[in-house]
Amino acid sequence: MSLTGEEARVLEQEILACTRCRLASGRKHAVPGEGPATSCILLVGEAPGEQEDRTGRPFAGRAGTVLDSLLASAGLSRNDLFITNVLKCRPPKNRDPRKDEIKACKPYLDRQIGLVCPSVIVPLGRFSAAVVMGQFGIPGKKISEIHGMAFPVDAPHGPVTIFPVYHPAAVTHNPALREQLAADFRHLKEILTDSPPE
Ligand code: URA
Repeated sequence: MSLTGEEARVLEQEILACTRCRLASGRKHAVPGEGPATSCILLVGEAPGEQEDRTGRPFAGRAGTVLDSLLASAGLSRNDLFITNVLKCRPPKNRDPRKDEIKACKPYLDRQIGLVCPSVIVPLGRFSAAVVMGQFGIPGKKISEIHGMAFPVDAPHGPVTIFPVYHPAAVTHNPALREQLAADFRHLKEILTDSPPE
C-alpha cells in the first residue's frame, strides 16, 4: 500500500498478518490495496482473485486489465486512485464473500476510508455497492438501477460522493457492458473535474 505515515503502515501490517476469519488459512497473500495517499478517489472491489492472491496486488488479473483500459479511456490512471476490496483475502474458488467474513474485514475498509479521506468512493459491482452504500444508509438496489449515479453522503471526514459502477469483470460475461462502464467512468471524471478536492 503506498499510503504514507505510521497509521497506514500499521494498518497494512495488520491486514497482511490478519487471522480474523477462515480466509486467512487459504491465502498466499492478503491484499491490502494500493495507491497514493493523496487519492481523492477510492475504488472498492469485492475480493482478491487468483492473481491478486498470488501477487498481493489488487486488480492484478483480467479484471484489472479491463479496469486499466476503462480508466485510460476516461483520462484517469491508477496513480489517481486508491484501490482496495471489501475482503482483503481471496475466498476459495472466488465464491461470494460470507457475512461473517465481511464483518471481520470491514473495519479495515473503514480505516482506509479514514486515512485516504476520499471525495468519491466507487464501489465496483453489486456486492461492493451493497456493502458501501449500506454503511451510509442508502437502501439496496440493483446495480443495473444505480450504476453511474452520484449519491452524496456525509462520512466522518467530510462530504463524499458514492458512485457505484458495474464490476469490470462483468464485461467478460457481457461485452455489451463495456460501453456502459466506459460512459460511467467518463462521468466519474466529469464529477472530479466539476468539483475538485479542496
Ligand atoms: N476482483 C475484485 O473484486 N478485486 C480484485 O482485486 C480483483 C478482481
